[in-house]
Amino acid sequence: MNDRDALAARLATEFRARLGRPPAGVWAAPGRVNLMGEHTDYNDGLVLPFALDSATLVAVAPRDDDLLTCLSLDRPGGAALHTDDLRPGAVTGWPAYVLGALWALGWPQTRQPGLDIVVTSQVPPGAGLSSSAALTCAVTLAAAELTGLEPDRTTLAAAARRAETDMVGAPVGIMDQMAAMHGQTDHALLLDCRSLTFEPVPLPGQDTGLALLVVDTRISHTHAHGAYARRRTTCEDAARTLGVQALRDTTLTAVETTLVGEQQRIARHVVTEIDRVRTTVTALRHNDLTGLGETFAASQASMRDDFQISCPELDLAVDTLLDAGAHAARMTGGGFGGCTIALLPDAAVPTATTAVTAAFKTHGLTPPRAFETRPSHGATRVC
Ligand code: ADP
Ligand code: MG
Repeated sequence: MNDRDALAARLATEFRARLGRPPAGVWAAPGRVNLMGEHTDYNDGLVLPFALDSATLVAVAPRDDDLLTCLSLDRPGGAALHTDDLRPGAVTGWPAYVLGALWALGWPQTRQPGLDIVVTSQVPPGAGLSSSAALTCAVTLAAAELTGLEPDRTTLAAAARRAETDMVGAPVGIMDQMAAMHGQTDHALLLDCRSLTFEPVPLPGQDTGLALLVVDTRISHTHAHGAYARRRTTCEDAARTLGVQALRDTTLTAVETTLVGEQQRIARHVVTEIDRVRTTVTALRHNDLTGLGETFAASQASMRDDFQISCPELDLAVDTLLDAGAHAARMTGGGFGGCTIALLPDAAVPTATTAVTAAFKTHGLTPPRAFETRPSHGATRVC
């Protein structure tokens, strides 16, 4: 039994203990790491995420009445609400993600049955690995499969996103939900956030002697909603100044000749970062580790200096990983904390992990959490 199956069995047992009956099933959706393309999703640009091999699990059973209830094994609180009362503002805290997913699927309008939902997760929350999309995607898939709704996975991803934007009030893009729904084993997803078309891009597999290492700085980004919203507004203002629908539609020359100050910095990151997604895909397809390293380094510099979403801990982790033999390393996710992602030789994983831990200790920081990951598949029923 692997970790996920063991956790699913534990979740089903907890469901039965708390609710007095077994769940109808357990569903899982993965967290994600973005390899390239930070803050490009809401600019209609390109991103390159892959699904993690750690996931959020939900155990669900229909009820005879119209009550919607949720509990989490990982945190206190919960909710119980009649379907008719489900609307933005009616639920707060973490249950807004769970019940928001049902709301976004049209639960009140389509008179779907009440549900009991119990949640647990392997994805650390607030670390930039998208525990939020893992949660909403697990709920949307479970709810859709249980009630015989048959929307495609992209429609489910869009509903999961609406749970966050409209119910939780977090202005997120579509990347996280698409990765959680469409992830493929040993592949990243080259996703066009305007057309929502995507293609799988092979990542180095187990036989290549290369590993993907995530370092969680354990600086939570959850305090950074204001800074995130401000970046978004600046992107929209810059697009308006340039007379384009989104920053995806402009060029570096236009940005550098038309914009000034903060708008120029912010837009330059977006335009060059979209280009770096293409460069990363080319490097991966040609096994060009040098090109990959250069592109990651340019992205890290752009996030630090232009978009200003890195932080000393992320910079320290990236520099230490590179010194310890990583081919490529950068921060990943929305920034202001969270994680780095690095590609390095298998043999360098232990030394790189030790080096990052030692560097954080030297700087008086909380020890980081490093873990190897393999690109995994998207949301699925576990049992
Ligand atoms: P991230 O998506 O980077 O992990 P977010 O702030 O977007 O960070 O989402 C984290 C939030 O998602 C948590 O604060 C909580 O509300 C919700 N969440 C994630 N995992 C769980 C869980 N296992 N149980 C309950 N709520 C969870
Ligand atoms: Mg999130």
